[in-house]
Amino acid sequence: MGKQLVGQGVGRGIVIGRAHLLAPSELDIRQYHIQRGDVLHEVARLNNAFSLVRAELEQLRTNVAGDAPAEVKAFLDLHRMILDDSLLCDAPRDLVRTRLINAEWALTIQLEEVCLQFEAIDDEYFRSRSQDVRQVVERVLRRLAGGRPSPVDTDRPRHEGERLVVVAHDLAPADVLHFREDEGASLAGFITELGGPTSHTMILARSLGLPAIVGVADARNAIEEGDLLIVDSDAGRVVVQPDDETLTDYRRRIQLQGQARTELRKLRGKLSRTKDGVPVELLANIEMPDDVRDALDAGADGVGLFRTEFLFMNRDTLPSEDEQFEAYSRVARAMKGKPVVIRTLDIGADKVLNATARHSLGLAIDGGDGQAVEPNPALGLRAIRYCLAYPDLFLTQLRAILRASSTGTVRVLVPMLAHLHEIEQALQFVAKAKEQLKERRQKYDARIAVGGMIEVPAAALNLGPFVERLKFLSLGTNDLIQYALAIDRTDSAVAYLYEPLHPAVLQLIALTIRTGARARLPVSVCGEMAGDLASAELLLGMGLRRFSMNPAQLLGVKQRLFELDSKAAGRLAARVARLHDPQLIRAALERASSGAARKRAATVAATAHRH
Ligand code: PEP
Ligand code: MG
Repeated sequence: MGKQLVGQGVGRGIVIGRAHLLAPSELDIRQYHIQRGDVLHEVARLNNAFSLVRAELEQLRTNVAGDAPAEVKAFLDLHRMILDDSLLCDAPRDLVRTRLINAEWALTIQLEEVCLQFEAIDDEYFRSRSQDVRQVVERVLRRLAGGRPSPVDTDRPRHEGERLVVVAHDLAPADVLHFREDEGASLAGFITELGGPTSHTMILARSLGLPAIVGVADARNAIEEGDLLIVDSDAGRVVVQPDDETLTDYRRRIQLQGQARTELRKLRGKLSRTKDGVPVELLANIEMPDDVRDALDAGADGVGLFRTEFLFMNRDTLPSEDEQFEAYSRVARAMKGKPVVIRTLDIGADKVLNATARHSLGLAIDGGDGQAVEPNPALGLRAIRYCLAYPDLFLTQLRAILRASSTGTVRVLVPMLAHLHEIEQALQFVAKAKEQLKERRQKYDARIAVGGMIEVPAAALNLGPFVERLKFLSLGTNDLIQYALAIDRTDSAVAYLYEPLHPAVLQLIALTIRTGARARLPVSVCGEMAGDLASAELLLGMGLRRFSMNPAQLLGVKQRLFELDSKAAGRLAARVARLHDPQLIRAALERASSGAARKRAATVAATAHRH
């Protein structure tokens, strides 16, 4: 068959492509504190990396052909000058000594410092030189990571139409955004050594419609650049350099996949409802305004979650109110009156702003060096906590969302609420933003609905304040699972404990759906669970009537709902509520769905017989 590697599959489907090993980039940098006794070692690492890059640049300078344009030599000289500047080579050493931080961290702090100085220069030419500084620092960082002098992607000639499977130790959400912008077309899938299946990186991979496998230990040793890979995300398996028989088998499966997709597309225009006619709303999760195309393409009933933080990432300045208004209203207009739920900024944890952008907030968190030092980011200043800490940031976004509400059906969703005072403060901010727009005589929907995410167990267990003050709820199961089970959703070491079917998680979900129904408050699920076919019947049985998911999953869930009977689903949910073991719960769900499959097969056979 070929060498096989296993991990956790993300998204659906199988792809075949060539391995592209990702060298550590500026976005793949570890930051940690060191012991005083390790200072010398860390400084030596820095010195060594600088020496290697110096030699590398000299070598390049020597190799430049005599007839090469003068700019090439000038460019190399410039890089050499930057490398030797004491701001870059001495200052990080001091940071290592005084702050007791690792070499990479010190270097990136200094990089941002230097770039800020460059960016403050009036002259356009000098301002843009910050890009050269970044490139030089990238070279040093690669050496620090023990990597090759340049990223592998520039080395190897590519064949026309070749599809790439990126193999990386870890990917940050920001990295995936780069791929989306730059390489989306040729990218076939991802494999990472770290990461959990509901990390934001993987949510983005899914939104690219790409299969991925996370937690593949030692992938970068087992796979070589250019290896042919089969990524089977359904089975959580990678086949390296498959033999002919395996390739033929997988090509056939890919063909079947394609046929199944064609069948699914026929459901686009159909109303989503269960077999017994209960209407269900199927909404789309999007990360960037352009994703609205996928939502429309999948026939979504609206946008159930617009993760706005991705508009703020990978850039050195924060988006202005006008820029945000443009983005939000583009989505609102494209959905032509269908609801668009815009979530306020959920920055923090694995979604970080660039240091320069953080700087522009006047950063109070850490001493103002541009690096947030948080011991536990998932439990730290994230989402609504971040917004309340930076009122101008929050108000700017709220004004932009409110203005967009005059261009379509817009709702505001506030993430990570846990306390009554957070709900009240968030609502006060909305009121203040409205006041400001009124003063400016700008249009907005005065009756805009404000809802809250239920993703902290404390919120699900104390829904009173939510029900009384908000107009809708959205269950963020990704975080609800993370916080209920005390496991970091991005950490592959504890990924085996990430259990959506844990009875405690199911109780929190059921409680929220029940409480919402009693209060006549709409409740949706917008975490990954909403797009999981195996969970669809259970959620339906708990009373869920609004599912929000990646557009790529929407038609599959619609097809599943057509097969489900809401009363039978209710009985299943009641049976599951008595079980205390996720394995038994999974088995009960599988039994129910294979029973449905048997009935489906029998109906098909009976129809065929009649004809
Ligand atoms: C969630 O937590 O389930 C959710 C939808 O939000 P995010 O994945 O962006 O944290
Ligand atoms: Mg969340």
